[in-house]
Amino acid sequence: MITVIDFWRRALVFPFALLLVSLLLWALAGALPAALFFGVFLLARLVFHLRQLGLLEYWLADPEGRPAPDDTGLWEEVFARLNRMMRLNRVERARHNAALQHMEQATSALPEGVVMLDEADHIEWCNPLAEQHFGLDCVRDIGQQITYMARQPEFVQYLAMRNFSEPLVLRGARQDGLTLSIKLIPYSGNKKLLISRDNTRFERIETMRRDFVANVSHELRTPLTVVNGFVETLHDMPSLENDMARRALHLMGEQTQRMERLVNDLLTLSKLDNALNALQEEKVDMAALLRALYHEGQALSGNRHSLQLELESSCAVLGNAEELRSAFSNLVSNAIRYTPQGGEIMLRWWEQDGQPVFSVRDSGIGIAPQHIPRLTERFYRVDRSRSRETGGTGLGLAIVKHVANRHQARLEIASEEGKGSTFSIAFPAKRRLPLPEEEASA
Ligand code: ADP
Repeated sequence: MITVIDFWRRALVFPFALLLVSLLLWALAGALPAALFFGVFLLARLVFHLRQLGLLEYWLADPEGRPAPDDTGLWEEVFARLNRMMRLNRVERARHNAALQHMEQATSALPEGVVMLDEADHIEWCNPLAEQHFGLDCVRDIGQQITYMARQPEFVQYLAMRNFSEPLVLRGARQDGLTLSIKLIPYSGNKKLLISRDNTRFERIETMRRDFVANVSHELRTPLTVVNGFVETLHDMPSLENDMARRALHLMGEQTQRMERLVNDLLTLSKLDNALNALQEEKVDMAALLRALYHEGQALSGNRHSLQLELESSCAVLGNAEELRSAFSNLVSNAIRYTPQGGEIMLRWWEQDGQPVFSVRDSGIGIAPQHIPRLTERFYRVDRSRSRETGGTGLGLAIVKHVANRHQARLEIASEEGKGSTFSIAFPAKRRLPLPEEEASA
């Protein structure tokens, strides 16, 4: 590589030599021949540089396909430098391509479909699994709008909502029976990664599990009712004089009733779990529902507790009365069962920031903080024997949680061991139905 000084030294050799010779000629032969000599050689030099420029331009038009012009002097250095840059560029490009291929191979091996979407949801790239999931062709469909390729209304809506915190479950996505779990991850401003996972097998197993529990519960129901009926009849028979037999029949009756409660709760859960069982919505008169629950609670408590009902709001909600009744009644029954005699229980219907809330507060045994996150799991109990003694199935709060989810409501549990608990269900504002006076003034 030549230095700047070198460059100027070499660049000025010719003009200086030409000037010197021209001056010599001027002294020997006069000004005109000297000027002519100077002009001709200058012109020849200009033509030479133009030719070199032409060669350079010709080579740069296709540097990969044509050999670099080789020359001597100043141009030699320029051509050599450009050639070096091209070579480096080629190596760099090959490295980038290899890295890109590596990335593509890695994403192709992912057990999930990946589609890269631009700001306007056009496909930029996708892996082979995404091709299968959405019926795409990763070469042909580049630049296509994704909603043009995957047209399910739920998917189009999910994309338009721009709230990607929860995945979308897409059933029958491209072929019947295919279930996809879809997640959109925003990146680099407004671009998105669309990740799809085939949940068909998992969904099938889940359905089998649900059907199995529902079928077993259903099958057990009739024999249990029959056995229970006979046990009750035998127990009440005046001719039964054997104390031992009477006690045994009493215990048998208790156990069959417990099994009946279990079976009923399992059936309720199966119904709530069933994806085909959509929520049947109606206007639910909360005041009336809570008054009925309050009376039921009083009967269950048998005057062992002080029960209060506070109806601070008279708004109704849009929901399913039967499901809400079942969930609220579980909360009331729990408050009674886990509050010692003389304790206080308050049922409250109120509003917080436009959200209707139902809460049950008790002054009962309370719950240690480590148990709270697990209470809504099926059969999770803090104290197994207390739950059994009071007729619990371990499924009550699981039912409450399901019903709350189906109403997009939030179940909140606040509790202090030894002091009491508050269970609240907060409904979204969109489920609040206006009061009659609000309707009249609207
Ligand atoms: P269970 O039929 O056992 O009551 P749940 O699902 O209704 O089942 O409740 C799960 C567990 O949560 C109960 O076993 C109990 O330990 C605890 N729990 C529920 N409600 C209360 C409450 N009001 N006070 C104290 N513990 C409670």
